[in-house]
Amino acid sequence: MTEKMNAAMFYAPKDVRFERTDVPSPGPGELLVKVRAALTCGTDIKTYQRGHPVIIPKTPSTFGHEYSGDIVEVGEGVTKFKPGMRVTACNAVPCMNCYFCKLGHNELCEDLLIVNGAYAEYIVVPERMVNVNVYEVPDHISYEEAALAEPLGTAVHALRKCRIDLGDTVAVLGTGPLGLMLIRLAHLQGARVIVSGKGDERLEIAKEFGANDVIDIRDVPDPAERIKMVKEMCNFGYGPDVVVEAAGLPEAWEEAVDMVRPAGKVVFFGGCKSGTSITLDTKLMHYAELTLYGVFHQTPDDYKRAFNLLTSRTVDGRQFVKETRPLDRLIDAFDEVKALKAIKYAVDPTQMN
Ligand SMILES: [Zn+2]
Ligand SMILES: [Zn+2]
Repeated sequence: MTEKMNAAMFYAPKDVRFERTDVPSPGPGELLVKVRAALTCGTDIKTYQRGHPVIIPKTPSTFGHEYSGDIVEVGEGVTKFKPGMRVTACNAVPCMNCYFCKLGHNELCEDLLIVNGAYAEYIVVPERMVNVNVYEVPDHISYEEAALAEPLGTAVHALRKCRIDLGDTVAVLGTGPLGLMLIRLAHLQGARVIVSGKGDERLEIAKEFGANDVIDIRDVPDPAERIKMVKEMCNFGYGPDVVVEAAGLPEAWEEAVDMVRPAGKVVFFGGCKSGTSITLDTKLMHYAELTLYGVFHQTPDDYKRAFNLLTSRTVDGRQFVKETRPLDRLIDAFDEVKALKAIKYAVDPTQMN
């Protein structure tokens, strides 16, 4: 008889069922990991609400992608890892062989292997991932902290791409989990950080992470007013050197372009709904020489750097995860994150009521 495990199964938007399913078994080169912490993520919350054609092409399906746990079994030929090791893995791994991988743009890999299924007691880590994007977690770091390497890697990718100089002023628009990570990283790179976002608690945390000035968008709901405020705060009224959009809204993309100083840099971090577009003032683009960066996903190098930042606690992951709950409280956790009651929760799939 095959062993059974706890799993959150996605059937349809707003229809997730907590079931007992078969424990998968690892093939050659693969790992079987007992998940000890799986984090809530905005992508999973969106998937729960409206489905996701790429992450969940067919249903029912397991989901969840920010996790760490214990290796319980290794497939034939695995030498780098052993049962009993605590590990964390990225959510995706490039092929290292396609046109874009060879260009050094692993984030645009045409054959990205995406792994899903962290909201379950066991997960199989495929061979390609094992070879590239799995790390052993040191004893002093919790499972919850280690699982943050995946989202943090995307923030690392964004800020490595735009390059911040010591003494720059960086405005971050948005105080979601990734907005907060971007704030922390911009601060670490020696920038003065101005933040606009919402939620008293979020803005307090933004300050703890290194934000020098915060604007609550509920107090200043007019974007034109916010742009004026931020410009007046820095560079003799010309505006920030870098603006990072982390809200994922077309109107915030436009706000970022209008806020940055001439010859400044704008980073479009937040993914907007597909089919949306923004309007750019050609005169501004031409005469103000703006540089715009689209950023997506991360490379194995970004992931490794994110993991290093967490294990050294240069980025203190303990500030991100509010508490760990049994698996079947996953939907409550999604709702509470949406209500800004926490940055993230972890679920422990070994626990189910
Ligand atoms: Zn995520
Ligand atoms: Zn590739």
